[in-house]
Amino acid sequence: MATEKIPYKTYLEEKEMPEKWYNVRADMRNKPAPLLNPGTLQPMTVEELSAVFCEDLAKQELDDVTPYFDIPDEIRDFYKMYRPSPLVRAYFLEKALGTPAHIYYKFEGNNTSGSHKLNSAIAQAYYAKKQGLKGVTTETGAGQWGTALSMACSYFDLDCKVYMVKVSYEQKPFRREVMRTYGAAVTPSPSMETNIGRKINEEFPGTGGSLGCAISEAVEKAVSSEGYRYVLGSVLSQVLLHQSVIGLETKAAFDKIGVKPDMIIGCAGGGSNLGGLIAPFVGEKLRGENDYRIIAVEPASCPSLTRGKYVYDFCDTGMVCPLAKMYTLGHDFIPSPNHAGGLRYHGMSSVISQLYEDGYVEARSVEQTNVFDAAVQFARVEGILPAPESSHAIRVAIDEALKCKETGEAKNIVFGLTGTGYFDLVAYQKYNDGVMSDYIPTDADLEKGFATIPQVNL
Ligand SMILES: *Cc1c(COP(=O)(O)O)cnc(C)c1O
Repeated sequence: MATEKIPYKTYLEEKEMPEKWYNVRADMRNKPAPLLNPGTLQPMTVEELSAVFCEDLAKQELDDVTPYFDIPDEIRDFYKMYRPSPLVRAYFLEKALGTPAHIYYKFEGNNTSGSHKLNSAIAQAYYAKKQGLKGVTTETGAGQWGTALSMACSYFDLDCKVYMVKVSYEQKPFRREVMRTYGAAVTPSPSMETNIGRKINEEFPGTGGSLGCAISEAVEKAVSSEGYRYVLGSVLSQVLLHQSVIGLETKAAFDKIGVKPDMIIGCAGGGSNLGGLIAPFVGEKLRGENDYRIIAVEPASCPSLTRGKYVYDFCDTGMVCPLAKMYTLGHDFIPSPNHAGGLRYHGMSSVISQLYEDGYVEARSVEQTNVFDAAVQFARVEGILPAPESSHAIRVAIDEALKCKETGEAKNIVFGLTGTGYFDLVAYQKYNDGVMSDYIPTDADLEKGFATIPQVNL
């Protein structure tokens, strides 16, 4: 390692941090299909979206033409607490694998929320504050997004109401307590505070809740409370825009050390970290300036890109959100109960979906025991305990590095290490106890989800 010219960690200087976010939609010839109003099936307008989202965010959501958006100074000041994040050369992993490939990762777990989600949470909180709102509502499953949002809201002194899926609220008290420490009000969902919550509690007494139900409660609370809006941590185009800070920094760090990546790998749940990481690279691809292989990695138990349909579907189980054209397993799809690795969303960002449809992005699905094999191998040599979600990308980076070992090619591979796994130790425990299993849905299983896709795709 000491003989290498390239450092183990490449940090940009603070002044090299991006001043603008990059909107990849501006360079897409085939734009992502518009969000549709579920009532009229017409494209959503800024006015309609502004009833649910902050106005500036509604504008960002619908803007397919502006390539760059200034990052407001207030957001850059917050970013400076944990950005620029390091681009790390995984020398120890390369050595353990005996590969000629050069492996890099962009580490986004270096903040208290433990993931990249803070990059968009702080932006969304800023625009809510700028609009003079009192607060925001959201849902959270395992809790990463709720944690990031509670940090962002406390920074801007905004009220933060989080509906947390009841089973997680009860079984995962630690993230809940981080959120409360940052001042968020965390309510187990379904609650008795909303019409939809009361209805579900009545129909299914004792239910543990679901993400779809929590979304519906958060939206209802936002639209029925003066001075509140709803915010979402992934999937939306505005979130990909904010997350472009990851890719812009990665590109700047590579330019600094004179390296061009051959392959860019990211895990894909709703598509926000992947969309952010690849943004400037896919932009060069779209403009015909450069070529990169880009691989989206998803769980075999929730395979929206590799086995889903590219159609309009609801973004939420409660069918209160707009319809998006995306690769989807159907809004009622829920991965099997043994699934422990996150990335459980039924659909995929419409930007990533269109890029995949047009062949700019490849997709691969991986089984969870293989994912945890990779997570443990990585943790033991590189030191960081990775989030299960991030470990999907580690799995494919290792697989590609092993292919390079066979061919003798010294390819440059970079992957997104989106977060740390300290709150996922129940999943690690299952793996360590040897009781983790894989479940790949059959075609018949998937048909049940597809049957819930609305009939607007005629
Ligand atoms: C939420 C999350 C993801 C997946 O979300 P995307 O929107 O697909 O990026 C990945 N990794 C971590 C650590 C997360 O918290």
